[in-house]
Amino acid sequence: MVRVNKPLAMPDCLNLQVVFNLFSQTCYLCGNSSTEAICNPCKKYLPYQTNTCLSCAKLLDEVGICPECKQNPPPYTHTQAIFSYTYPIDKLIKLAKFQQNLTILKLLANLMAQDLIMEPRPNVLIPVPLHSKRLRQRGYNQSLELAKIISKQSGIPVNTRACKRIKNTRPQTSLLNAQQREENLAKAFKIKKRLASWQHIVLIDDVMTTGTTVKQLALAFKAAGIARIDVWCCARR
Ligand SMILES: [Zn+2]
Ligand SMILES: [Zn+2]
Repeated sequence: MVRVNKPLAMPDCLNLQVVFNLFSQTCYLCGNSSTEAICNPCKKYLPYQTNTCLSCAKLLDEVGICPECKQNPPPYTHTQAIFSYTYPIDKLIKLAKFQQNLTILKLLANLMAQDLIMEPRPNVLIPVPLHSKRLRQRGYNQSLELAKIISKQSGIPVNTRACKRIKNTRPQTSLLNAQQREENLAKAFKIKKRLASWQHIVLIDDVMTTGTTVKQLALAFKAAGIARIDVWCCARR
C-alpha cells in the first residue's frame, strides 16, 4: 500500500499560533498575560489570614482561642483557613464552585498546600461530602477536588467512602440563626467506614462560614471513635 502524505490543512505558522494559544492565558484578576490562572504580582495581594483563632480560624487581634471556642470547645482541634473570604477570593471560589472552573480550583488548592502546616501529619484527608442530589446538580464536589490536589502535594491519602451526607440540607447561608443551622445539619452525616488505624483525620472544606457543617461532621467522626479531627479550608468568612 502506498501511503500518501496529506497536505496540512493550514500553514505551519497557523498551527504554531493554535499551540501558543493553548498554553498562554491571561490572569483572571488583572488581565495581564500569565502562565497560571493568577499572575505572581496578583498572588501577593491575596487576602491571606494572619491572626486567627487556633480552634475555629476566626480572625482575631492576635493568635489565640476566641471567646466562643473557650466557652464551647468545638469537636475539632485545630482549623487552618488560608484566606479570608473577601475579594478576590470570594469571586474566585464562586467561579470554581458554580462555573466548574477547575483551573481556578487547582490554583487555590496549590496555594493552600503551600501554606498549610501539615505536622502532626494526619492519617487521612476527608472532603466534606455533598448530598448525591446536590452533587448531580453541580457536577462535582469542590472539596474533593481541593483534597485531591492537597493529597498529591503532601502524600496524605484522601478517602471519600468514610462518610456520606444523608440529608440534603438547605444552604447554611439562607438560614437565620445558630439554632436553625444546628437543626438543619443535625444527623446530616453518616459514618460508613473508618479504618481502625485512623487516629487523626483532617476535614477538607472550601469555605467555612459558621462552622456548623464541619462541627456536625466532626461530631459524627468523634462518635465513631476518631481521637483528633482538624479542619483545613480554603477560606473563612
Ligand atoms: Zn494578575
Ligand atoms: Zn474560635
